[in-house]
Amino acid sequence: MMTLPLGYRAYISRSLQSRFPNATDERLEILVQSILSEIAACREGSDDWDESIEELIEVLIHNREIESSELTEEIILQNLKLRRSQAEDLKVMCVICQCEYQRKEFVGKLGCGHEYHADCIKRWLFENNSCPVCKCKAIDLI
Ligand SMILES: [Zn+2]
Ligand SMILES: [Zn+2]
Repeated sequence: MMTLPLGYRAYISRSLQSRFPNATDERLEILVQSILSEIAACREGSDDWDESIEELIEVLIHNREIESSELTEEIILQNLKLRRSQAEDLKVMCVICQCEYQRKEFVGKLGCGHEYHADCIKRWLFENNSCPVCKCKAIDLI
């Protein structure tokens, strides 16, 4: 088992916090642990800090980001605020399908406040975990 320089953990923890600002401390700790053990496995016992370690940490954190962008229908539905369209929505267009809302359709709202047809945004989120308009991350899984 390798020993890590003290600054190491803090560096990983800071990088994770900036990538996953909504993550709980508990979740961050799990991520830090999993990254530390992957580094240990890659480095085969060497505990020297050098630039290649920083690169490795970047790659490992990036992998976590990719994992967290694969959304299932269940997770999408849990994170989408649904409502029925009202009279005042009828002149508003869903930018995904470029159609105006019809009466009593399901409208889904993301955390950023942008709204789309529920079915349009569901389909979109399977491909991209981001808002089609403002590009902010739609659902934070970590
Ligand atoms: Zn639509
Ligand atoms: Zn948005």
